Amino acid sequence: MCMFKQASWNQPVIFNMGKNGRRGHILPKVEEDIRNAIDLDSCIPKHMRRENLPKLPELSEVEVVRHFVRLSEMNYGVDSGLYPLGSCTMKYNPKINDMLASLPTIGMVHPYQDEGTVQGILEILYKLERWLAEITGTYEVCLHPAAGAHGEFLGTLLMLTYHKMNGESEKRREVIVPDSAHGTNPASATMAGFNVMVVPSDEDGCVDLEALKSVVSEKTAGLMLTNPNTLGIFEKNISEIAKIVHEIGGLLYYDGANLNPILGKARPGDMGFDIVHINIHKTFSTPHGGGGPGAGPVGVAKELAKFLPVPRIVLDSERYSLDYNRPHSIGKIRSFYGNIAVLLRAYAYILSLGFDGLKEVAEISVLNANYLMKKLKKIKGLTLPYNSKKPRKHECVFSAKLLKNDTGVSALNIAKRLLDYGVHAPTIYFPLIVEEALMIEPTESFEKEELDRFAEVMHEICEEAYRNPENVLNAPHNTAVSRLDEVKASHPKTMALSWRMYLKKNKQK
Ligand SMILES: *Cc1c(COP(=O)(O)O)cnc(C)c1O
Repeated sequence: MCMFKQASWNQPVIFNMGKNGRRGHILPKVEEDIRNAIDLDSCIPKHMRRENLPKLPELSEVEVVRHFVRLSEMNYGVDSGLYPLGSCTMKYNPKINDMLASLPTIGMVHPYQDEGTVQGILEILYKLERWLAEITGTYEVCLHPAAGAHGEFLGTLLMLTYHKMNGESEKRREVIVPDSAHGTNPASATMAGFNVMVVPSDEDGCVDLEALKSVVSEKTAGLMLTNPNTLGIFEKNISEIAKIVHEIGGLLYYDGANLNPILGKARPGDMGFDIVHINIHKTFSTPHGGGGPGAGPVGVAKELAKFLPVPRIVLDSERYSLDYNRPHSIGKIRSFYGNIAVLLRAYAYILSLGFDGLKEVAEISVLNANYLMKKLKKIKGLTLPYNSKKPRKHECVFSAKLLKNDTGVSALNIAKRLLDYGVHAPTIYFPLIVEEALMIEPTESFEKEELDRFAEVMHEICEEAYRNPENVLNAPHNTAVSRLDEVKASHPKTMALSWRMYLKKNKQK
């Protein structure tokens, strides 16, 4: 099987490169009389001026170019190959969307410009809101949140505000989440001040209805649910679930990270959800990774629309304007109107695919996941927990527990060995209810040949685990860096997200 070898440069951190006085660009000198004419004291108050020059690396242009080209050669992205990171929907991002978002007529628009001069962008955002409302079956959509988790936070605040308006916020302190939920669900509910109640999954991988009935009460503020859930399984009892929660006065929150497989096929609003977030950077194809950028618009049912953050974009006889006059609004949750460049890409994506195209996205993503699932099911060492006979939607979650018991090779080791074949690893150890989980989401963006190759590579790795486990345990071998220290990389004591932080932690000057 064709192997892969990643470029490996011994590239220092940019702060350790260059020489004093080296320059990549020469700025024209400011004439003496202009310099004298500038009254620094009135331009920048003294207490806001920096005494020392910022400690920036000093390099020539060619050094900078080579540095970043080398780093990019040691990277792997969705443009390099298969990226089956379950739940993250790492689909291909069409370049035309990037092109549109980087047009100077769009890039140079400033949020403080007069409304009359930004009618074009307001129209785009207004239309995008309407389209997303149509796609999710909600009444009004707010584009402001910067990520899914941010949308969840807004959603749980809306829940709180709704119960407050009914004089019940003191009583309704509990938010229910299934045990298959993404970690951001309980985190968001906790941030909004709720207590989290966990409801278990049944043997089909769906919410256990009896358990749900026993946990709901007049203390319930609402339920947060992903559908299809993180096992890739459609919650077939969703109407019953909605009835149970609504009957006791709770609201239903839809975590839209898994919207991809039901695009144009089913709508959360029609399933009974009152609040819905959409992960624009997942479903609507905008580049994401490394924590951003993203967008997590929130759609709501009619009775919640008045609580949405300001400003709202309104259309009045062909003129768009920003409406701040919303007495029931929860206020602002982000500066200005959202992550515009990300939202624009989504607008272009929806426009280029059209309704039929969106439906095809759903169909092919489901077809790909089930095709891959059938092939992977044959591999010795892997099992498919939760009703292995049932088809999945956009993703399938395998367990490597058997393989680990037989050979010592874990899901983590498989993930590392996959990198040697030039394939990105799937999500591992999530959802928490599957031991040694490998969560695989191929999306609609990959050809059959690539899916076949992925299945073959997985087969080869599991076979190797039985034959020569050492080689899998020590993987990767062909990547720019070998196995990293997982604890060091995420422990607050050692994690350094910037050079300044690194120096501080290593007590260097
Ligand atoms: C990605 C994801 C989230 C969080 O979304 P972000 O945009 O990463 O904040 C929430 N729930 C599920 C199921 C997800 O996959």
